[in-house]
Amino acid sequence: MCRLRRIQRKSWQSSCDKDVLLNILGVLTDLLSLGTGRRIHYVISKGGSEALLQALISAARTEPPDPSILLPLLRLLARVGQKDRKFGIKVQKAEATDVILSLTRQNLGHHLNLTHCLWVLRVCASNVAAGTTLGINGAMELLFKVITPYSKQHIRTVRAAIEALAALLKSKSNSRQAVNRGYLGGLLRLYQDWHHNDVSNNYIYIRRGLLLCLKHITNIQLGRETFLGSRGMEILFTSVQDCLSCKNLDPIVTTVTQILRKCYPKEPLPLVTVRSSYSFPLPGNVKTERPCMGSEDDNESDSEEDMEKDLNKDDVEGKEEDYDLETDVNKLRSRPGLDRPEEELGQYEAMCPELSHDFQELDSESEEEKKSEDRSANLPSTSSHFIPSGNSVEDPNHRWRNQSGTEAGSDPQEKDFKASLQSSIKKEKCSRSLISEKREIVEAVQNANSYEEDPAKSHTFSPCPLPKEAPWYKKIFNPECEASIDPSSGVGSETTEIMTDLLEEHQGNIPFHSPHFYIARAKCTKSIPAYRDLAFPDFWGHQPPPHGTPMLDRHYGVQRDKVLDDVRRLIQPGDLIGRTVFDLDEPSHSSPGAPCCLTFFSKFESGNLRKAIQVREFEYDLIMNADVNTNQHHQWFYFEVRGMKLAVPYRFNIINCEKLNSQFNYGMQLVMYSVKEALQGRPRWLRAGHDISYYKNHYRCSAAAGGSLKGKCYYTLTFSIKFPHEDDVCYLAYHYPYTYSAMMSHLDVLEQSRNPKKVYWRQQALCQTLRGNTCPLLTITAMPESKKSDDLEQFYSRPYVFLMARVHPGESNASWVMKGTLEFLVSSDPIADLLRKCFIFKIVPMLNPDGVINGNHRCSLSGDDLNRQWLTPSSQLHPTIYHTKGLLYYLRSIGRAPLVFCDYHGHSQKKNVFLYGCSIKETLWQAGCMVDTAVITEDVGYRTLPKILDKVAPAFVMNSCSFLVEKSRESTARVVVWQEMGVLRSYTMESTYCGCSHGLYKGLQLGTQELEEMGSKFCLALLILHLKSFPCSKKVMAQAALLLDLEEEITITDRAQRCSPNNAETLEICWQ
Ligand SMILES: [Zn+2]
Repeated sequence: MCRLRRIQRKSWQSSCDKDVLLNILGVLTDLLSLGTGRRIHYVISKGGSEALLQALISAARTEPPDPSILLPLLRLLARVGQKDRKFGIKVQKAEATDVILSLTRQNLGHHLNLTHCLWVLRVCASNVAAGTTLGINGAMELLFKVITPYSKQHIRTVRAAIEALAALLKSKSNSRQAVNRGYLGGLLRLYQDWHHNDVSNNYIYIRRGLLLCLKHITNIQLGRETFLGSRGMEILFTSVQDCLSCKNLDPIVTTVTQILRKCYPKEPLPLVTVRSSYSFPLPGNVKTERPCMGSEDDNESDSEEDMEKDLNKDDVEGKEEDYDLETDVNKLRSRPGLDRPEEELGQYEAMCPELSHDFQELDSESEEEKKSEDRSANLPSTSSHFIPSGNSVEDPNHRWRNQSGTEAGSDPQEKDFKASLQSSIKKEKCSRSLISEKREIVEAVQNANSYEEDPAKSHTFSPCPLPKEAPWYKKIFNPECEASIDPSSGVGSETTEIMTDLLEEHQGNIPFHSPHFYIARAKCTKSIPAYRDLAFPDFWGHQPPPHGTPMLDRHYGVQRDKVLDDVRRLIQPGDLIGRTVFDLDEPSHSSPGAPCCLTFFSKFESGNLRKAIQVREFEYDLIMNADVNTNQHHQWFYFEVRGMKLAVPYRFNIINCEKLNSQFNYGMQLVMYSVKEALQGRPRWLRAGHDISYYKNHYRCSAAAGGSLKGKCYYTLTFSIKFPHEDDVCYLAYHYPYTYSAMMSHLDVLEQSRNPKKVYWRQQALCQTLRGNTCPLLTITAMPESKKSDDLEQFYSRPYVFLMARVHPGESNASWVMKGTLEFLVSSDPIADLLRKCFIFKIVPMLNPDGVINGNHRCSLSGDDLNRQWLTPSSQLHPTIYHTKGLLYYLRSIGRAPLVFCDYHGHSQKKNVFLYGCSIKETLWQAGCMVDTAVITEDVGYRTLPKILDKVAPAFVMNSCSFLVEKSRESTARVVVWQEMGVLRSYTMESTYCGCSHGLYKGLQLGTQELEEMGSKFCLALLILHLKSFPCSKKVMAQAALLLDLEEEITITDRAQRCSPNNAETLEICWQ
């Protein structure tokens, strides 16, 4: 390096001594050709580029130019310029562009010199401004003189010229000029020529270089139009077919695919409007035409890159996250006032009946217990929450809407419940008689049907639409009756029979699921389209398969194959059908049951197919409905398909997805449910689909269809499926569906199956949703051991845990996790028993029933993302949020803010299960702010629960957790409950839609079993948290020690921490 410096100190640009100059160039060349780039960067930092450029200008001026000086100089310039990010600017400053161009021109006949000139030219052109200047001064014409059709002569020179041209074409003005001068057609011809003649694939870099020129030139609209007009699509599509089988040619295939995708003519979605097919008038004259939320801005740009190359960069966090962090300490530490008058909080006292219950009934009840072993006799009469009677909900405002007193009094469905309750208890206690069970269910269903005789209310549900063209059904169930079914007799009697038959068929061996309860619940569920049909899987039930499913191996080139197949629609339209086979908006336009055509359906709870178009014989484009009252948010899908052939791979394309990327590119599969499989004893959703890919497509939102969303891009999720049976009825979904009716019927089963002597259970109505569905609120804890004041005192003073789920309807995984939590909480597991004695659980298992029912992905009926409304929820538009927050305010006002708050969600971009929490210090630290630890002390207790989960829950990964407070999340439940209620342990729990990258389930996709397990392990973690962090009675500790085999270190270290006065202080500083 010393030598280098010395050499530079000499002002060699003014040296006339040729020998000295040659010497210097030689030494520099030697020095820079060795070692890493560090030396070059050193030269650049010391003004090396400028010096070399000056030397070039001087050398070019001497007449005649001396090649012995020019050659090493050009070589050095190319090398240094490549590493110098400001090289282009320096070239312009030194006014060297003309010199370089004229040198190139002078050396057209001298290939060695020419190649060196072209290298320098290429480096200069990498700066767009310098490239533009070069273009204006004729660089492109010059290069076109050098680029020849296929020839083995002067390959290096031709390559250098092509690469220089590609660099020049990054400038839009050059691209425009090139198109106007007809170069685009020339490039296409050159490419074809090289492609045809380079049969041994010796000159891949030249072919790729020509493609790069085309790729840059088609970044401008004019370029794309000219490309199309020059038959560019046909030429590239046809030529690339020869390259697909050869792995060496991947760079060519990838570049061709990029160009084809970009140039494919943009089209609007085949819809009249992208606005949801369903609208709902909002209360208080709020316009349903809500302003659209900022969509992920993703307009056509120069840098449209193929996603395929990012495939290994899994779980990449957005770099913008840091700018989103809240760095205002005062804001982080402030506690905003109430968002409503304080008097309003009084109404929530009724939602804490456990705090005023005197348990006078305890003794008499236990005596009764002794008399009879049959638990059903002890069902509290007020607990028939299914149709709650007046006194089950103390606040008259919280009664079910449209509920008349007479209905509540003698409800025929109540009988059904008891009938099957008794049967389920029998099942538990002794081997039950299958025949009598069946008779009971049949009777129950007949009762249910007779209840429906009032024509005003009557909508007969069928398990799935079973129209006349359902031969599969008749064959399976009723082969002998096939002829006797009179098609004109109406749907009613047929469906009754079908229902009865189906229920008889049901084995009743799916734990916590009863088809019978499901039907009863579904009848009361209010949807906007007034659904009359049940999806079979929701009704029949789902039993997880015994083994997990590995993530799908992604075959190389899946995406490009699919894209090329899409392009084929344009090039070879011969096999296109283009027939609409399902249309929610115009049912008459659809032609179901056409020969050789699948039949689609989705008018059932959580279904959301809007349109299906048969593209080719075995390929369908599908469009999902937007969230109600919005024109976007499509990602979730759930629909039925029937009439399939066996062993044929059907390709489905969901063409209006919105997210920029998806776990479908990283091993995730969708889920499928086969009715025939279910009837053969395998009732289950399974991960299904192969050749899955997710990519940006050529559909854009038009002004006519989408107004302000004009220009918005859409993405295709494509997958192929081979159905397991011929003429089956199958259901396909984004993720394991979990409907509102499923949740309500599961709550019924749970309540009935609990041991009322041990489990305190209350189900109340938190409020009504906009559509008039009840949002249930659960209270679960242990019954006090006795009426004695000590026991009652212990009961009343238990700390609260507040859990909720499914604010986002598309995140059905959250509901399965919640199902696991609830089943564990009411179970007879001794750990659950102990846990109930430690906490009172307040649970809102589904915060957005209307969204779930109507097949939304993100929003409620108001068109709002409910998890962005927590700062100031509206009682009219966001009642479930308003009242959940009200209840939390109430708990805080009586000094009982929850110890743990957790909101269950699903995550579409990341793997594993993890928590988001809130920490001031971690946020400031991550944002790079100076943190004065003396000023900000913070209880680190928020880290304990995730650390425990990391140990006890196989799907949970601590490293995926984050405790940062982002500005964009300031209105979410987690942040608001942390900030306004002062809950230190306020979390969002995110469960992946895909699978795990760590731990026991590494490489597996999560199924409902793993999700439910997560829910139960969360309970276990809460118990350990309690033992570690809070005072417990000796009795509890002793029981826990027996059950959990607790490690010494956990108890001791955490105790010490808990007792430290410092810690108590931090809490105060933080939250007072
Ligand atoms: Zn969510």
